[in-house]
Amino acid sequence: MASPTVKLNSGYDMPLCGFGLWKVSNDTCADTVYNAIKAGYRLLDGACDYGNEKECGEGVARAIKDGLVKREELFIVSKLWQTFHDVDRVEPITRRQLADWQVDYFDLFLIHFPVALEYVDPSVRYPPGWHYDGDKEIRWSKTTNQETWGAMEGLVEKGLARSIGVSNYQAQTLYDTLKYAKIRPATLQIELHPYLQQVELVKLAKHEGIVVTAYSSFGPTGFIELDMDNAKTAAPLMEHDAIKAMAAKHNKTPAQILLRWATQQGLAVIPKTGRPAVMLQNLDCFSFDLDEEDNKRIAKMELNLKFNKPTNYFSADNLWIFG
Ligand code: NAD
Repeated sequence: MASPTVKLNSGYDMPLCGFGLWKVSNDTCADTVYNAIKAGYRLLDGACDYGNEKECGEGVARAIKDGLVKREELFIVSKLWQTFHDVDRVEPITRRQLADWQVDYFDLFLIHFPVALEYVDPSVRYPPGWHYDGDKEIRWSKTTNQETWGAMEGLVEKGLARSIGVSNYQAQTLYDTLKYAKIRPATLQIELHPYLQQVELVKLAKHEGIVVTAYSSFGPTGFIELDMDNAKTAAPLMEHDAIKAMAAKHNKTPAQILLRWATQQGLAVIPKTGRPAVMLQNLDCFSFDLDEEDNKRIAKMELNLKFNKPTNYFSADNLWIFG
């Protein structure tokens, strides 16, 4: 099964359904990537912060060696972590990440969050995470998003990234980027599900020709394993009466309803699972359409409930900026 693609403003085609790699453990990651490619996924969504890029690279290399896929058929996405926003740190860390993936370019490279942290040398800790000391201390870098974006553009000029984009940006940060970008962001990756529909931001991105990738399509489900309080108390989306009723009506699973709700809006999705049968199920999120009544019901489920905020993972007095 193959995913349809969408044309990015960079001219490249991006699959609308990809495979997410956050929280894929190091011991299972190479096999999971291999199985995802075998199931038909072509877009792999990784990041320095996921701490598994070396294993991702092993899975990709094995899939290419076994003839499942060619490099040029894959769409490999990775992200720049905040401790590498300083202009002279961007290219070296990108080269390291490429080496981990065993490839010589990323199809898409994103700024993971729009805020710079002080540099932590990879020999000290990798991935570095949020805290300068690996424990509690947050140290900001003075580097601006404009300076970092210039360095991201340098990656395209050097052939290390074909397209570049942003993640966890809101309207103001996006507008600001558009003022100085010589290369416009190709995509915006944001948390988006029926409890956080991001209607205005999606409208803005579409108007500006930026493709939106929705992450955490299943809402609280992906955050329960992090023991997050507001995820544990939120009603699971896959067990929501409205979603279950739509699943029964369309003879699909609740997960497929949630993914189709996004892809039908032209949004890309990047679900993750370790189970090959579920990989296939999630990739099948284009073969049916929600009707107007379904969409109206989901529109009413908005709670403005965001799970992926650093302040939800740990208490840090100076991380409120992600509100
Ligand atoms: P997810 O889509 O991986 O879903 C979370 C949980 O749902 C998983 O535990 C999985 O086992 C379960 N699941 C998956 N398919 C299912 C199905 N068909 N039926 C029942 N259960 C199913 O959520 P996520 O990890 O929050 O996000 C997905 C991806 O988005 C990540 O892997 C990552 O690549 C990306 N992401 C990016 C950011 C960012 O800051 N840019 C943040 C979070 C996630």
